[in-house]
Amino acid sequence: MKRRKFLKKSLQTVPVLWTTPSILSSCKKEETSITKTVIVVGAGIAGLAAAQRLKNKGFTVSLLEAQEKVGGRLRSNRSLGIAFDEGASWIHGITKNPITDLAEQAGMKSFHTEDSSRKSYDVGGIVRSAATYDQIEDEFYDMLDTLMKKGNASQSFQTVFNAQYPTQAKDRLWKFFLSTYLTFDTGDLDKLSSLLYNEGEEFKGIEKIATNGYDTIANHLARGLNVQLNQRVTKIDYTGNKVQVTHNGQTSSADYVILTVPLGVLKKGVIQFAPNLPAAKLNAIQKIGMSCVNKFLLTWPTAFWDDVQYLSYTPETADKFNYFVNVNKFHPSSNALMTFAYAAYGRQTETMTDSEIKEAIMAHLKDMYGNSIPNPNPSNLLRTKWSSNENAYGAYSFTAIGTEMRHFEDLAEPLDDKLFFAGEHTEVDYFSTAHGAYLSGLREANNIIDLQ
Ligand SMILES: Cc1cc2nc3c(=O)[nH]c(=O)nc-3n(C[C@H](O)[C@H](O)[C@H](O)COP(=O)(O)OP(=O)(O)OC[C@H]3O[C@@H](n4cnc5c(N)ncnc54)[C@H](O)[C@@H]3O)c2cc1C
Repeated sequence: MKRRKFLKKSLQTVPVLWTTPSILSSCKKEETSITKTVIVVGAGIAGLAAAQRLKNKGFTVSLLEAQEKVGGRLRSNRSLGIAFDEGASWIHGITKNPITDLAEQAGMKSFHTEDSSRKSYDVGGIVRSAATYDQIEDEFYDMLDTLMKKGNASQSFQTVFNAQYPTQAKDRLWKFFLSTYLTFDTGDLDKLSSLLYNEGEEFKGIEKIATNGYDTIANHLARGLNVQLNQRVTKIDYTGNKVQVTHNGQTSSADYVILTVPLGVLKKGVIQFAPNLPAAKLNAIQKIGMSCVNKFLLTWPTAFWDDVQYLSYTPETADKFNYFVNVNKFHPSSNALMTFAYAAYGRQTETMTDSEIKEAIMAHLKDMYGNSIPNPNPSNLLRTKWSSNENAYGAYSFTAIGTEMRHFEDLAEPLDDKLFFAGEHTEVDYFSTAHGAYLSGLREANNIIDLQ
């Protein structure tokens, strides 16, 4: 499955990126005369990229990170002996994608997930023909290319789609495509803009999934940086010459601050600003949406499923465990499947017990493969709860009803040349992705460098 695959049909522009051959080594101590200090709030990929670039330019940089480790939404759980990426898994389009080079420098291994290696099941365990699947997939892409012409600023994608395609709205395969090709990439369809649902650029090339953990990149970028962990920032005061940052009851100050906390954290208002953020920024924080995507990894003593990369199942309930990544393809001894829950159902899973989750997933797998599955009880379950996670309050940003593309630029706008903003939600071309977050960190580092 390819996130943002539908954009392939649109005109693509691939901008020239300002990445360096190696952010860690290329510009070591280029300038030693800089005496300015920078605090970066948040040690996700945006914050780490910004900090590395500034440190290499001679700035004195420290990072304040609320969690016990760096990486943010690049978070890998290795408790089962393989890396389960709780946040980003894929390099979306490897050609000219800055993550491709970064992954190589960091030692992040990856595997080409072949989109065409797939099998689709309808309820009752009926295998769908590849021809049917391919035909509806084409019709789905055509719909995505044209629906925006019927869209408007005040209606959701779902409202417009249901009016234009009433038959398809009830069709299980169409519901599957809406869920895995659109909701997964964006957000709740009843909140998604009917005008801007396909905004954002994409890179060409194959999709690759990280196999030894996406956090390999974060750990690589963190090398040599002064990262203070378990430091939750609660206030940023940018009234004086120096910016004051309150964290864990103490205050630190710097000439510049780069704030990279996720949009969900900004929406919750857990960080107080003095003076208050300007109206344009507050408006953008409110208007841009924050999605929910939860991921689940299950293991069994033996693999009982088809030897393909992707399995799909098309239940009536939207966004519910309808898509399985066959982890055995890149971890042959693991007997693991990864599945997903999105939007409203994704948030619902966060209130469910592990037993309830396993039961709901097994109901789908039993319908696909019959009751004869050996060892139907999964040996292990790993799961995420991104919407209630206090370090993110959601998965990534999306164009909700009322969003305008300038809102992403409003989020990026620096204040008084002292307080700077980075993170995936500030990157108008590549929001919602790891590469977007990375580029945003470099962008803000460059903005500070340009002030010298
Ligand atoms: C489920 C899921 C799947 C995804 N899949 C992909 C994918 O396959 N490919 C892809 O390219 N992208 C994917 N993404 C998106 C990608 O992971 C993010 O866009 C990117 O990692 C965001 O980086 P960031 O630095 O902007 O934010 P973050 O990584 O969230 O970093 C922000 C940091 O701020 C910290 N923080 C929060 N509050 C405070 C506070 N008050 N004080 C101090 N620190 C604080 C957080 O702990 C965090 O470390 C996925 C994301 C999710 C959640």
